Amino acid sequence: MALKTPAEYVDSLRDLSIRAYVNGERIESVADHPSIAPHINTVAKTYELAHDPEHRDVMTAESHLTGERIHRYTHIFHSADDLVKKIQMLRLLGQVTGTCFQRCVGLDALNALYAITYEIDEKEGTTYHRRFCDYLTGVQRADLMLAGAMTDPKGHRAKRPSQQDDPDQFVRVVERRDDGVVIRGAKLHNTGGINSHEVLVMPGTGLSDEESDYAVACAVPANADGVLFIFGRQSNDNRKLEGGCDIGNPRFGVVGGEAMVVFDDVFVPNERVFMNGEAKYAGTMVNYFATWHRANYGGCKGGNADVLIGATAKMTKVLGTERNSVVRDKLTEMIHMNETTYASAIGASAMGYALPCGAYMVDPMMANTVKQNITRNVYQIGRLSHDLAGGFLATMPGEQSFDNPEIARFVEKYHQANPEYQTRERVKLGRYIENMTSVTTMVEAMHGAGSPQAQRIVMLGQADIDKKIEMAEQVIDGDDDVNGLPLPGKRQPAEVEG
Ligand SMILES: Cc1cc2nc3c(=O)[nH]c(=O)nc-3n(C[C@H](O)[C@H](O)[C@H](O)COP(=O)(O)OP(=O)(O)OC[C@H]3O[C@@H](n4cnc5c(N)ncnc54)[C@H](O)[C@@H]3O)c2cc1C
Repeated sequence: MALKTPAEYVDSLRDLSIRAYVNGERIESVADHPSIAPHINTVAKTYELAHDPEHRDVMTAESHLTGERIHRYTHIFHSADDLVKKIQMLRLLGQVTGTCFQRCVGLDALNALYAITYEIDEKEGTTYHRRFCDYLTGVQRADLMLAGAMTDPKGHRAKRPSQQDDPDQFVRVVERRDDGVVIRGAKLHNTGGINSHEVLVMPGTGLSDEESDYAVACAVPANADGVLFIFGRQSNDNRKLEGGCDIGNPRFGVVGGEAMVVFDDVFVPNERVFMNGEAKYAGTMVNYFATWHRANYGGCKGGNADVLIGATAKMTKVLGTERNSVVRDKLTEMIHMNETTYASAIGASAMGYALPCGAYMVDPMMANTVKQNITRNVYQIGRLSHDLAGGFLATMPGEQSFDNPEIARFVEKYHQANPEYQTRERVKLGRYIENMTSVTTMVEAMHGAGSPQAQRIVMLGQADIDKKIEMAEQVIDGDDDVNGLPLPGKRQPAEVEG
């Protein structure tokens, strides 16, 4: 069956032996490095749950290419139900791991490639779609973990790719050969890239005809010659090296373990190239990817917030404040904000529609609204969590304090609140909240799937303000009575004339 086990996933990473750097040093094996291990565990959970009969419906799907049971993370959305199930899967995984499980970027990239290759072929007579479907069949059968790489370094933000002083600020084709292309550049903030089998490279922006070298989409094995991963730092990341509860989310880590991926003149054979110079399709592809991806946040952040709300609610019990009505109201507000974004993500999915290729797109207005709200609600939920948990979040002693007999009794005694709970339990909860509301986590909510302004541009474009003006005029000044019934209080023509 095309479903990897968690152990097979981890072993397959060992076999890949990629070129990766953590804190400036080349590492031997990503699968065995403590800085990366929690993020690998999180992905392993996505593999594990696909084998659980209880979650089969949301975690797996039937491949439209082979009819085989596959992981939903390699599936092409073919109905509104598929889109809804994706959001349900994300919420479930968020609830189980309390963090980012990294496979969504690759999933949305697969769908965007599926859609755009079809559309390019339709208009240009190319054969990318068949090629991509062959690739996809392999991905589904091997149940690969794919990273999605869209964000270029971008250099000077006011300049287009072709205007940059350094042309490598956007990934580009530097050589075209009969059997493939050579690409150069980098993609930043790559979620899960360092523990993926392959990286799906996509253009990061709309392109003009003169920028055709930047119009490249392809699949690059993580261990291809010239590919290297430089792991990013996160809030409190050295705590992973210490072990223990101070990590906050010890088994699953904080956010997705992002890396920059460098393509130092990487050869990509033709069978892995899905766009090669068709600049006018780059904008549509970015748009497809971003729209799907923005809806996700109502699911994954919904699940993460469930855990954070749970940790915060438990903290109120530890403090003895849980029965206070104001405290309960603050928890209610956290729930309200969380369910609002989840409902929008489900709504965006339920209102999905078929693209020309048959894949299903979420409702763009709602999807962008989800992400816009995430850039606020995640901060607001974190703020309320900080409020309810108290200053202890910022000042609590490290876990090692409990191991030093000279101070352990003071730490125990003076940090205990409700005696029904051990002080160490309070510290664990506090560390979880601290780490899951840290800069790294918040910034992910702010910029992941595009900065807030990117959503606002789409929302305004989708809103059709002129149509709304017409609606307002019709409602205020219109005279079309309901089924010819005179409206109460409306002056009749005779009265007006008379
Ligand atoms: C944790 C995390 C995970 C991520 N994972 C992935 C991933 O897996 N794959 C991937 O491809 N990307 C990923 N991203 C990248 C994400 O999509 C980008 O961070 C986002 O698109 C913003 O781009 P930027 O970070 O370069 O911000 P910038 O472009 O530097 O934006 C900073 C600010 O400048 C503004 N700005 C930018 N350009 C202009 C302009 N021309 N005029 C006026 N204002 C401007 C923006 O609106 C924003 O307010 C991730 C990001 C984070 C934080």
